[in-house]
Amino acid sequence: FYSVIVWNKFLNNYNNIVRNSMLDGMTGLFTHKLFMERLDAELGRAKRHKEKLTLLFLDLDKFKRINDTYGHLFGDLVIKDSANLIKNNVRTHDIVARYGGEEFAVILVNTSKEECLKTVERIRSSIEGYNFSNDEINENMTISIGLAEFPNDSQESRGLIRFADEMMYEVKKLGGNMAK
Ligand code: GH3
Ligand code: MG
Ligand code: MG
Repeated sequence: FYSVIVWNKFLNNYNNIVRNSMLDGMTGLFTHKLFMERLDAELGRAKRHKEKLTLLFLDLDKFKRINDTYGHLFGDLVIKDSANLIKNNVRTHDIVARYGGEEFAVILVNTSKEECLKTVERIRSSIEGYNFSNDEINENMTISIGLAEFPNDSQESRGLIRFADEMMYEVKKLGGNMAK
């Protein structure tokens, strides 16, 4: 009996270690690699269940200025806090990833573009309204968000990423701090 408890405890710890090693070290979000795997899995699921799925591509606006003005440590803090703000505004079963440096991707499962507009606006406004700060610095940040919906915008993962990426760049061209 006790050996079962010890064994389960070992397995739990082992699972946690494996899971954590797959997450992004700075933000605790899914890594790019894990995100790509999950996107394919969730697309398969959406196809089987005839559900919709929305992919978000998010990029912090003029982030380089933060590094150049305050240094990379404060830049890191802005990335970490932004990651938490995004994570806190989606459901637990949605997938939030750090796609690259100051770029994030979110898979909103079983959700159409229209259904997620409130969520997207919540993410955008929570970042706009947040005070990024340490002992000496107070700064504001905004984010640009591109949306792509399965199956309307594309049926496959690469197409969805390309679509959301293009939408995000259109937002940038319009001055950022929006979703499209
Ligand atoms: P835009 O509005 O067009 O997105 O401009 P931007 O300045 O945000 O975009 P750009 O891609 O030119 O700059 C992103 C910067 O993010 C460049 C890179 O040095 C920085 N960066 C990437 N990863 C990290 C990180 O982990 N920590 C810090 N502090 N900076 C990072
Ligand atoms: Mg970028
Ligand atoms: Mg940027």
